[in-house]
Amino acid sequence: MEHQPYKTWILDDEDLSDDQKLRLNDHLAACPECVQLSENLNSALLAIRVAPEVAAPAGFTQRWSAALATRKREEEKQQARSLGIALGSSALVIAVGAMLIFIPGLSLISLTAGLITTVVNVLDGMQTAVSFATTLFKSISPATMVLLFSIAGGWLLLASFTLGLSVWKLAIKKVENK
Ligand SMILES: [Zn+2]
Repeated sequence: MEHQPYKTWILDDEDLSDDQKLRLNDHLAACPECVQLSENLNSALLAIRVAPEVAAPAGFTQRWSAALATRKREEEKQQARSLGIALGSSALVIAVGAMLIFIPGLSLISLTAGLITTVVNVLDGMQTAVSFATTLFKSISPATMVLLFSIAGGWLLLASFTLGLSVWKLAIKKVENK
């Protein structure tokens, strides 16, 4: 059986004249090979048409990644806030402790002024610590973060100890002067 020009017409059925369409249909009615070609072409075209719908989950993946990144940033902010609160409350406890020791030598006004100054300083320090930590955490890996937390913890412990020691020394001196 002669399959040309029918195979060419099957592959390019857009530009066929009515006469060509009739001749092609007659040939397809008698030729399983050209019917097969037509079906293969149609399923290929269908696959191409369906492709954009298959590609749709890519957008979903992007949205999901974006949501994950946002959630991670929120967690980092939360961690930074917790660190700031821990640092701030430690400083406050130390400051209050130091003030309690010096209460006999302080007037109520200077005590109040000192307390307000300390609170303001602590809040300011917390703000700075939080923004600094947030900026820092955005650019570092979790492993580095753990290391930094350890260093910060160690530093805080050392600072508290040093401050406590100086407060204790000053308290001793005060008692001796009396
Ligand atoms: Zn044929």
